[in-house]
Amino acid sequence: MDADARVKREDMRSMRTTGWTSDLWRALGALCPAVCEVCGRWPDGPLCPDCQRDLAPLVPRCRGCALPHADAQRRCEACRRAPPPWQTVVARVDFDHPWDAWVRALKSTGRPGLASALARLWLDDPAVPALLADADVWLPIPLTAHRLAARGYNQAWSLMQALARLQPTPPALPQGLQRTPDAPVLHHLGRRERLAQAQGLFRVPPATGSQVRGRRVLVIDDVMTTGATLRAATHALLDAGAAAVDALVVARTPPPME
Ligand SMILES: [Zn+2]
Ligand SMILES: [Zn+2]
Repeated sequence: MDADARVKREDMRSMRTTGWTSDLWRALGALCPAVCEVCGRWPDGPLCPDCQRDLAPLVPRCRGCALPHADAQRRCEACRRAPPPWQTVVARVDFDHPWDAWVRALKSTGRPGLASALARLWLDDPAVPALLADADVWLPIPLTAHRLAARGYNQAWSLMQALARLQPTPPALPQGLQRTPDAPVLHHLGRRERLAQAQGLFRVPPATGSQVRGRRVLVIDDVMTTGATLRAATHALLDAGAAAVDALVVARTPPPME
């Protein structure tokens, strides 16, 4: 990210913490859906081209862990040492301002404009069309039944639908993975606990087994944090006979600061 973009991000961060400004923007957004959610400019919403360029720069990332890596054609050293079970994972942005707030808003409000603006971010990444072209089927990471009942929708499925409206996509398997009953919720756990708890998190239901067997499956999610959820999903799909698994997420949690 260049210096101007960094300054802009810091400006936006400080403005976000100014309650009345963000309240005003929210009110404006409700009245004028065309307002850019980041800078408030209209009619350019929900994400104007300037904000997209400045706040979602294309950054080369490791195909194994989706963390920034100078050579996007090669995996980082950690992924070469301990290869992940998936073939390729693509993340578009860091899970940082403003995208962390967008993803949270997508989860809490489900506003369709957010899903489509986030899905649009994927389209300017040249890795994404190739990922879609390679996939035979795609499916969302499922929520727990309890969370799905509380929220009323799965944000990963909203993102998939939004992307499918913008780009030809392979057939969807919305129920291709299930959370195993009583599987733990990982989001509040630390890295080590997540990795330990993620085993057996998902299963492929017998009814969709034949649609996964021998296929290359693309898994969609909003955020990749430690990769534990993705790892569990990939293992469940490979155990069910998938030929290979790739993953596409909007945001990647940056590594902890040194
Ligand atoms: Zn803007
Ligand atoms: Zn890596």
